[in-house]
Formats: sequence, C-alpha cells, structure tokens
Amino acid sequence: MSYFHSVTLDKDRCRGCTNCIKRCPTEAIRVRDGKARIINERCIDCGECIRVCPYHAKLAVTDSLDMMKNFKYKIALPAPSLYGQFRDLTINQILSALLDIGFDEVFEVAYAAEIVSKFTREALAKGNLKKPVISSACPAVVRLVQIKFPSLIDNLLDICSPMDTAAILAKKEAIKKTGLNEEEIGVFFISPCAAKVTSGKNPIGIEKSKIDGVFSMKEIYGLIIEKAKTTVVRDLSKASMIGVGWANSGGEAFGTFTENSIYVDGIHNVVDILEEIELGKLNDLDFFEGLACIGGCIGGPLTVENNFVAKNRIRKLTEKLPKREEPMFDEKDIDFEEVKWKKKIEKSEVMKLDKDISKALEMMKQIDTQYKALPGLDCGSCGSPTCRALAEDIVKGYATEYDCIFILKDKIKNLSQELNELAGKIPPVLSEGKE
Ligand code: SF4
Ligand code: SF4
Repeated sequence: MSYFHSVTLDKDRCRGCTNCIKRCPTEAIRVRDGKARIINERCIDCGECIRVCPYHAKLAVTDSLDMMKNFKYKIALPAPSLYGQFRDLTINQILSALLDIGFDEVFEVAYAAEIVSKFTREALAKGNLKKPVISSACPAVVRLVQIKFPSLIDNLLDICSPMDTAAILAKKEAIKKTGLNEEEIGVFFISPCAAKVTSGKNPIGIEKSKIDGVFSMKEIYGLIIEKAKTTVVRDLSKASMIGVGWANSGGEAFGTFTENSIYVDGIHNVVDILEEIELGKLNDLDFFEGLACIGGCIGGPLTVENNFVAKNRIRKLTEKLPKREEPMFDEKDIDFEEVKWKKKIEKSEVMKLDKDISKALEMMKQIDTQYKALPGLDCGSCGSPTCRALAEDIVKGYATEYDCIFILKDKIKNLSQELNELAGKIPPVLSEGKE
C-alpha cells in the first residue's frame, strides 16, 4: 500500500519559483519543467514548504467534516494548541462550542498528554532506555529520524503520542458508555498540522490508529467562533497545566520532570541537534524534545493565530490550571502496555545511493567529480536545492549538467566563439590570392 502524504502540490498554482526547494529539510522537492515535484519517499510532511510558498501551491489535505455522517457517535479530539487560537474564549467555551458543531463528546488530547507524561516519567525512571531518549510526539520528527537519522531509531520514545493515546481512551470509554460497536463510534482529531494528518493514516508504532479522521484546525476555527456566540458553557475540561502545556515547545520536556533535557523547535534546529546526537556529542542528555514547528504545535501550518501570540495565550491559560503532578485517570482505564509501541519503526533506505555498497561508493565518486565541475553557489536555479543535490540528480540520471545556468552559459559562450571562428573561415577554392 502506498504511503499517504497530507502535503501535496497544486500544480496550477505553482510558478516554479524554487522557494520551497531550499527549505525542505530532507531535500524532497525539485523543480522540473517549471513546476515543483515532491519526492514522496523523502517527504516528512513537516509543512515547511506550505509556509514558504508565496503562491499557496503547497497544501495540507485533511479529511472532510462530512465524514462525521458515517458514525452514530462522534468524538472530537482537540489538540492542546487549539486553546491558543482564540482571543477571548475559555477552554470550556471552546469545548462547548465543539459539541454545538455536532460532536457528541469531546476528549481533550491535553488530558491524554498528561497520561503520556506520566508513562514517560516511569519509563525514564526504569533507566533501560537508550539515551538521549528522543520524543516521538511530533510525527514529522519521527519520520525525519527514520529517513535521515536511521541510526537513532532506537532512541525514539516507544510510547504512543497524546493523539493516539486520546483516541484509544476515548473509544474505550464511549463503547462502555453507549453500548455501541467500535465501528459506530467516530474519533476525529482537530489538527494543527499536516504531519498529524499523515500519522492518522500511517500510524507510528501501532498497526492501526483509532483515529477515524483528522480535521484541519483552520476549518474548525470559524465554526467554533460562530457557535461560541450562543453556546451554553459546560464544565468539560479536565486537563491540567502539564497537558495543556504540551501546546508550546518545552511542554513535553517539562512533563518529564527531568532537568537534564532540552527542547528545540523548528525543523532545521531539530536537524542540527539530531546531527549532534548522531555524532555522540549529547550522550549525557536524558531527554530531547524536538518539534518541527517554530514555537511547537501552536506554530503548526494549520493553525490560525500568530505563533508568538498563541504561545503567550497558552502560557496564561496554564497559569490558571491545576498544577497536579499525577493525572486523575483511573489506572484500570489504561495501562502502559496499551500505549507502548507494538510495531518497530523501519529504517528508510531512501537516502542511500544504492543497496549494493560498492555501487554506492562508485556513485559517490561520480557525484564528487560532478560536484567539483559545478559552481558551488547553491543558487537553486537548476531546480535542485544545492549544487551537491544537482550532482546527485545528474549521476542518478534525473538531470543534466546543462540544468545549471552557469554551465549552460559557458557552453553557449564557447559555442558562439566557435561559430564566430567558423564564420570567418573561407573555403580554399574561394580564397583567391591567400596562401
Ligand atoms: S514555493 Fe515551490 S510550490 Fe510554491 S510556487 Fe515556488 S516552486 Fe512552486
Ligand atoms: S510540531 Fe506539532 S504541529 Fe508541528 S508538525 Fe510537529 S506535531 Fe505537528
């Protein structure tokens, strides 16, 4: 089965400006024939290209709200970052408005995040995890590790994300409460990003996600604003400061109660830290929280509010929430084994030049030679993100050296010189008196 990607290209809108190719952390985009192309096997759905495209040609495909009609009982799973999107709404107003939109129940992902924090603390305390433990909450980062840093797969925290944990709990509770079959209950995540849409369809660490659909936060935002005007506010929220704090970068690391941890946001900053970890420079670190978006999930490409404003709102909201250290959940409702990964993350081979090591070495030599012949300006005019990437594309047969405008210019100059010289030549039979 092919791997679903939420990030897609609207070809008609693309002008081939090359803005996106340079921002992609896995060099997954090329511009050919005046249009961008995504190399699907390399795409991590981080949404960086969505943010930088000036023509809105990169999109995040999400599920349609019509999907709700297929289920008898519908549960909304709001991401903690949703709470930072509204200027004047309280958490309970937001949750009540969600019920008025047509959901039968809301289950806060922030509440599940608290449970994940508790299980993470317990797993860290056992001391048998490979250090530094790398957070697996951001699916874009998990896929980045899989594609670009496969040697770090064993460092990933093997616990389901708050989204998947919330879905497991919400479905279980709803079955008990309603007596319906699992298939009759629809669980819908309200997502700040494309990466979560993708991970709903290609679950991480488990065979099948309990998520039935992923809706865009942007799409739900307007509906909440509308319904909040008239909603009867109910006391629905049970999340604490730790769970809601996951919306901002550093929230998850804080919930580990480990001082020896770092958190980094922005996919390129995450790449820098993963390089350090791969080189063994951070072996003394306990926990690393890396998030693809600037500021954390409040900076996701499907959010509405400016990430700095949203970050401040989350901070203010958490100040008013209970600071309890242990989640209120009943131990009988969920145990660690239910949220522990059941499926190993496979190493991706996509960055390898060839499976055969001698062939790969030969290609590497050719790439080095080809690279030396290029100007080294990394201008992107060739449609590849760097001169090195163009050299690789040439060796793989996907491009030619004349895609480089500087090489093409030199070639034209040499050809025109040759033409000039040839034009001055006169055949011997016509060159009277000339020796
Ligand atoms: S940023 Fe990328 S997708 Fe957008 S117009 Fe430019 S080349 Fe096309
Ligand atoms: S940081 Fe959060 S919003 Fe951004 S890609 Fe990762 S999970 Fe999605």
